[in-house]
Amino acid sequence: MLGALEADVREVRVPADLDGLDGLVIPGGESTTMTLGVEREGLGSPLRELAARGTPVLGTCAGLIMLDRDHLGVMDLTCERNAFGRQVRSFEADLRIRGVKDGPVRAVFIRAPAIAEHGPAVEILAAVDGRPVAARQGSVLAVAFHPELGADTRLHEAFLALVRRARQSAAATPAPPADAGADADADPGSGAILDTCASPSPATS
Ligand code: GLN
Repeated sequence: MLGALEADVREVRVPADLDGLDGLVIPGGESTTMTLGVEREGLGSPLRELAARGTPVLGTCAGLIMLDRDHLGVMDLTCERNAFGRQVRSFEADLRIRGVKDGPVRAVFIRAPAIAEHGPAVEILAAVDGRPVAARQGSVLAVAFHPELGADTRLHEAFLALVRRARQSAAATPAPPADAGADADADPGSGAILDTCASPSPATS
């Protein structure tokens, strides 16, 4: 879907694949398998460093699990795996996502996790039956569903807007001289999560 939106995409399998990335998607799949792959390839630290530098990250479904405290530790939250049941409990929902305008997103949930607990830096963006299923922490965005299934590109467009903004602010921010004070303009982490979203509306299920 990112390719269809004219992003230049590549797969990441080993740490060298991360070089020069402006954004990273950790997709759905099986978090146990992905954990084994991350360990085998030594991707844990490079992924954490990439996120710590402010590179936008989008985690979807198992990708959300990978970002939690018990896995990569990029987001200050824990997940309950298969929170809505196993395969038979796969479902679709019209989900209002805080910061995504023009109505609800049709969200496909497949053996989806839910966010069980989170710290104050995590903003919950959407919930199903009162259970959080989308969140943002700085430039890291995570959803429990599969936004790449279906025709709605708004979440990916929003992620690309985050990527563009991070890239622009990196280009506009020269390495600070030793005596530089805090510059309020150089904070890409604050404000609306997504450039494509004007005024956030309350998230409901
Ligand atoms: N249930 C899977 C897991 O725990 C996630 C499913 C998915 O990514 N669709 O990793």
